[in-house]
Amino acid sequence: TSIGVPKESAEGERRVALVPKVIEKLTKRGGRVVVESGAGVEALIPDEHYTEAGAEIGDPWSCDVVVKVGRPTEEEISKLGDGTTLIGMLAPLTSPETIEKLKSQGVTAFAMESIPRISRAQGMDALSSQANVSGYKAVLEAAQASTRFFPMLTTAAGTVKPATALVLGVGVAGLQALATAKRLGARTTGYDVRPDVADQVKSLGAQWLDLGIEAAGEGGYARELTDEERQKQQDQLELAITGFDIVITTAQVPGREAPKLVSEKAVEGMRPGSVIVDLAGEGGGNCELTEPGETVVKHDVTIVSPLNLPATMPEHASELYARNITALLELMLDEGELSPDWDDEVLAKSCVTRESSAGGTSVDTDEP
Ligand code: NAD
Repeated sequence: TSIGVPKESAEGERRVALVPKVIEKLTKRGGRVVVESGAGVEALIPDEHYTEAGAEIGDPWSCDVVVKVGRPTEEEISKLGDGTTLIGMLAPLTSPETIEKLKSQGVTAFAMESIPRISRAQGMDALSSQANVSGYKAVLEAAQASTRFFPMLTTAAGTVKPATALVLGVGVAGLQALATAKRLGARTTGYDVRPDVADQVKSLGAQWLDLGIEAAGEGGYARELTDEERQKQQDQLELAITGFDIVITTAQVPGREAPKLVSEKAVEGMRPGSVIVDLAGEGGGNCELTEPGETVVKHDVTIVSPLNLPATMPEHASELYARNITALLELMLDEGELSPDWDDEVLAKSCVTRESSAGGTSVDTDEP
């Protein structure tokens, strides 16, 4: 089985789907890895590092399996032959048209986002590996934009109080943000609508903000709030947010617009010089005043909405993502042949379109 690694084409994307460290694992399984020349350049990986690790430099699109980071463009999809397997972050819930195109091209596709969040599949969980990068980097962005110190300082010129940081939405990115803000010396607080997160928040030395709204949904995700709950949440957060120097928001519900947690009134209530980093920009943002992809100052509060933070740390983000992809491939590779066991929950759920033996294809974009 040949495995192709193209250079990512999306603007600002610096990650690459496989790194030299994982090549040997795949060649040992009988895979042949073909890397497009320059595929790793943005992650500072020259072609020679791939060839030294046992890969070839060549055309990745004619391979049996193509592994990507981001969603393929129409032009890229047209390069995939009938019967090819594609693996990547394909955004099946928000870009069903991509899946339709892959289907009509006769491609079997696996979406990394659709891998079930079960213990056995943790090694393949790209949402988690990349969310860790985002959560970490969000705190650095906040510190960068802040007019204040994070840590408490006791100096000859006087004492500076530690910053207070609130994280709204404590999934993987939120937990990493709490941990990182704590390491920088901030006093941290976490909030989520899934009550089981409270213990995880407290174990990171953070306070738990309880607003009395519980909305745990399926598969460990949150459900959408009712209109009444949403209003109650916004009103209560308006009061709670006032005292925080830093607010980092990560709240998402798969396939839905990001919930608006921070109203304009809440921003108005913050102290001038405070910072909001909104990680939900791709879904429209968690703050009413967020402009996705931009940094804006409103009511003297800086609102930062970075898109694709993992791409800003291409070395480690690629390394972790490559391990996720490799773990999924290992599940399918048997003595060099790609033979997915469709009874395996991980493969069945992550497969978003599948070329059937009868030549037809089936599409499944319902599952998160
Ligand atoms: P996510 O990115 O989908 O959402 C981020 C957080 O926002 C979630 O914690 C969610 O509860 C919260 N949220 C959504 N709507 C909200 C609202 N209106 N107000 C406040 N908070 C809101 O989450 P994620 O990081 O992808 O994690 C999703 C789930 O997967 C979690 O339960 C996590 O523990 C679980 N998980 C399991 C595994 C595993 O067992 N293999 C690995 C990673 C994550």
